[in-house]
Amino acid sequence: MHQPQHPGAHVRGRGGSSTGHVVDAVIVGAGFAGLYMLHCLRGLGLSARVFEAGGGIGGTWYWNRYPGARCDVESMDYSYSFCDELQQEWRWTERYASQPEILRYVEHIADRFDLRRDIQLETRVTAARFDERASRWQIETDRGDQVSARFCIMATGCLSSAQIPAFPGLESFAGTTYQTSHWPHSEVDFTGQRVGVIGTGSSAIQSIPIIARQVASLVVFQRTPNFSAPARNGALDPEFERRVKADYAAFRQQARESRVGFVVPANAESALAVSAEVRQREYEMRWQRGGLGFAAAFADLLTRQEANDTAAEFFRAKIRATVRDAAVAEALLPKDFPLGTKRICVDTDYYETFNRDNVTLVDLRSEPLEAITPRGVQTEATEYELDSIVFATGFDAMTGALLNIDIRGRGGSTLGDKWVDGPRSYLGIAIAGFPNLFTITGPGSPSVISNMMVSIEQHVDWIADCLSHMREANLYTIEVTTQAEDSWVAHVNEVANATLYPLAKSWYTGANIPGKPRIFMPYVGGVGAYRKTCDEIAAKNYEGFKLTG
Ligand SMILES: Cc1cc2nc3c(=O)[nH]c(=O)nc-3n(C[C@H](O)[C@H](O)[C@H](O)COP(=O)(O)OP(=O)(O)OC[C@H]3O[C@@H](n4cnc5c(N)ncnc54)[C@H](O)[C@@H]3O)c2cc1C
Repeated sequence: MHQPQHPGAHVRGRGGSSTGHVVDAVIVGAGFAGLYMLHCLRGLGLSARVFEAGGGIGGTWYWNRYPGARCDVESMDYSYSFCDELQQEWRWTERYASQPEILRYVEHIADRFDLRRDIQLETRVTAARFDERASRWQIETDRGDQVSARFCIMATGCLSSAQIPAFPGLESFAGTTYQTSHWPHSEVDFTGQRVGVIGTGSSAIQSIPIIARQVASLVVFQRTPNFSAPARNGALDPEFERRVKADYAAFRQQARESRVGFVVPANAESALAVSAEVRQREYEMRWQRGGLGFAAAFADLLTRQEANDTAAEFFRAKIRATVRDAAVAEALLPKDFPLGTKRICVDTDYYETFNRDNVTLVDLRSEPLEAITPRGVQTEATEYELDSIVFATGFDAMTGALLNIDIRGRGGSTLGDKWVDGPRSYLGIAIAGFPNLFTITGPGSPSVISNMMVSIEQHVDWIADCLSHMREANLYTIEVTTQAEDSWVAHVNEVANATLYPLAKSWYTGANIPGKPRIFMPYVGGVGAYRKTCDEIAAKNYEGFKLTG
């Protein structure tokens, strides 16, 4: 019989290589999730080793350095809440923080809480296998590390596995290619160049206006137009900052109880119950305020197509009014999915950019992309000659980073096999057949539908409380039952199916990845309601889980 090693009875990490190490927990990923998880485990007196594939910490904000990379949740919201001194002392400079500023914040966190000594950079976890006899995880990396851990915590990120479509001829291109999600660390100067951007999702929408101002000519290759609202970014209003900081605790509490992890003025009325003038006024107010929160303009925008149509038409009218060339405006109009069923983008001068003489929009629905050639991009209609191509082609969202690791649970069964028809998880935190393994913001949790900082902190706190409970109750393993998992998956689907979300062919459903099973992955029941469910489950002695000593 194996001798369970309880939290506290651990071997401390050695700092350098990790071969043969025994730790309480391995954390995969050093973004906001991994860093806070490490901090909490330290607080519990547990030993942990963090492996991070990147050359630095920060996850999303380490990798995505493209021009214009910026948060679309406001900075007073998009920050950690766990330390009051930190949130009081840190000063954001803008309403929405830029990527360099967020990365400075991350670096500050690592120093302030002395996190670096347990983080191993430039190390990709390749395998995590559950050893049933020892009830421990064996973790392997691409650098030959082998670590034995009681708990394996996946902080691998929802949007960290980049997707580059396999364009024929890609290798033949004679110019330079860039990917928004793996942007070089040194400044890229496009001055005088002919540049193409492939993709018109959030990263493209942020970068296109800035790239357009630098280049000789810019060609934007669009497959699906998106809804984008103006950010109305600017210096952070000192009065707003003062008010928030005067009672940051209450501000955070409201965010935790909200639907999406930050507070936007919500309207309980149906869009169809008011006159066209009232609707227009409401939409215009939100458009002028800028940023996210449009979907809260009326109670039924995400549940009734006719209600949604009114908001979508408002956006389309704005695009028509902004873009001078009627044919270009028409091509930019999103028509294939209801507003808000793909994350609404937030921009600065995106639509205005198409009024520039040096910008061309190519609608790939009318002239499909055939190949990348040595000279540029070949569509069905013509060849566009380019010096550089920027791929803004998105991510294998939510499951990609997890499935890139050879994760094997009970009986050696793989996560890939288990998720062959789409992800199945309890609360987006735990997976049946994979004991003592946790996923932070996994599929089946609000994650990408929310202010991720709120969702990350909630999951990390829940996991830390769970481990603390296990220590107090002298328990060694925790594993969700298949029954509990099945009913959560059914609930996630039921909630999603009561909305318009599943109508969009989006990365929420895996539709952007060829061959990926179509299943609606995030939980849209609301951040506040979800938190309550998680807390109730914990309070009922971890209902749905089997805990063993
Ligand atoms: C361009 C962009 C803009 C965004 N803007 C917003 C926003 O405005 N608001 C918002 O709420 N969210 C936004 N997000 C989502 C963002 O990902 C989260 O807010 C948050 O940063 C996620 O933190 P994380 O720690 O969970 O994951 P990540 O930051 O993705 O970190 C995960 C880390 O895990 C590492 N990793 C993955 N697999 C392995 C492995 N096998 N071995 C070792 N390391 C591994 C990755 O290298 C990565 O560094 C944005 C995402 C992107 C890409």
